[in-house]
Amino acid sequence: MSRSDLGRVYLVGAGPGDPGLLTLRGADLLRVADAVVYDALASAELLDLAPDGALRIDVGKRGHDAPTLPQEEITQLLIRLAREGRMVVRLKGGDPFVFGRGGEECSALAAEKIPFEVVPGVSSVVGGLAYAGIPLTDRRHSASFAVVTGHRDPSKAATETRWGDLATAADTLVVLMGMRRLPELVERILAGGRAPDTPAAAVMDGTLPSQRVVCAPLAALPERVRAAGLGAPALIVIGEVVELRDTLAWVERRALHGKRVLVTRPQEQAGVLAAALRERGAAPVVIPLLEIAPPEDWAPVDAALAARDEYAGLVLASSNAVHRFAARARERGVRLDDVGWSVCCVGPRTADAARSVGLPVHLVPARHEGVSLARALARRPDLARGRLLLPRAAEGRDELPDALRAGGASLDVVSVYRTLPAPVDSAALCAQLAAGELHGLTFASPSAVRAFASLLDEGARRAVERCAVAAIGRITAEALRVEGLHVDAVADSAGVAPLVEALAAVLGGESGKRDTR
Ligand code: SAH
Repeated sequence: MSRSDLGRVYLVGAGPGDPGLLTLRGADLLRVADAVVYDALASAELLDLAPDGALRIDVGKRGHDAPTLPQEEITQLLIRLAREGRMVVRLKGGDPFVFGRGGEECSALAAEKIPFEVVPGVSSVVGGLAYAGIPLTDRRHSASFAVVTGHRDPSKAATETRWGDLATAADTLVVLMGMRRLPELVERILAGGRAPDTPAAAVMDGTLPSQRVVCAPLAALPERVRAAGLGAPALIVIGEVVELRDTLAWVERRALHGKRVLVTRPQEQAGVLAAALRERGAAPVVIPLLEIAPPEDWAPVDAALAARDEYAGLVLASSNAVHRFAARARERGVRLDDVGWSVCCVGPRTADAARSVGLPVHLVPARHEGVSLARALARRPDLARGRLLLPRAAEGRDELPDALRAGGASLDVVSVYRTLPAPVDSAALCAQLAAGELHGLTFASPSAVRAFASLLDEGARRAVERCAVAAIGRITAEALRVEGLHVDAVADSAGVAPLVEALAAVLGGESGKRDTR
């Protein structure tokens, strides 16, 4: 086989957990990968970057424990995939060359003359400590650091780490894979001469929404870690810099830190809300309760498109409607930017969506509500008396059409999509609720509320009472009440930011709370 027949392997550092810490180069490579070979620590969201058809192979290394697949088999797998001519991304937690056996994998590839590249990642050493508010070095406290593994390699008993030397060699000492042997390691470091009252910490799940930090004087750390129930993956950090966490901790101060929040919107719209929640420190749990489907019949839409010159205006009340209508127009060969309609949008987000599909926007009412749109339209004589087209969901409410017709408009309402209940594992959802694993619930439409209510068993229904429930708009809130569910927060306008803020106002009562001290 000639060299040009070979694929290539990219060892890519995935970062410590927060998917936002992947490098741009890592993301570019993932987007064109033929195969992704990943460890258990890598975030599921990073895998989503790979093309749909890419192979995704979990080799399940858990860092601390023995790998599910022996290292030798992982290496053989990489070699085989590359020989098949694939572009392979070997995604590794943190940085590939920091206790990731990336060096060994590269050596094996080099021996087989398989081309490889290494894309560094944010090591948990750097990322985990940054998110814990503990600087590795600081002019006031530490001018050096050492990073060491606490895992004893059974095959290398002879080269046992020199804990006695390390104990005082660097100002900051960071131990990876050390949770299992923590009492023993601390004993050795104390025996090596480090003071028992040296500030120390354990950082578990660093950079993830589940991040937990326990601080204690070195001698007391093992007991405090045990009492708090911390386990792998965690970093142990020893040195005066740990004191700085008192003022530098920032993750825990985000309003929704550590809160698990249910996102029920259709998949297409869930991502934006999930990202906004994550920004405030929450862990979004995305379970779409609805899915968007084509209308049962396109004929009325097609007829309206064919008779487009007869309409004075186009009324748009949701970005879903905009996108579905525009897509159908494209399919029918109708160029929307050519049509002479006045385009009226219910609010700024719908207007943005309209502009994104090439529609000029002529009217957006000051208050983003259907009734205000109807009033604004009534003030425009050209539109109030003309024929209007309203593309929308099949199950749309009558408020807006009624108001428009009351204003004198002759209105054609056509369905451009339906929202249907999505298939949901209701037993799993009920179990999560009953176990108290969801702190917040979000709803963006009455149909999502109804779908949710229909899934609940008795235990889950009771559990919902303990959750913070947030709704977009009073109509969604009303639907919750109708279903016998409570509402804690109502965001008065569309878009995700007001919803997240409303939820933060309810759930964020403990903001600034710290795990420790
Ligand atoms: N290459 C990785 C380290 C792999 S060894 C890196 O650069 O980060 C696995 C160890 O890394 C774990 O046992 C734990 O000590 C540490 N680790 C990895 N991710 C972590 C995280 N999110 N929070 C705390 N420690 C983490």
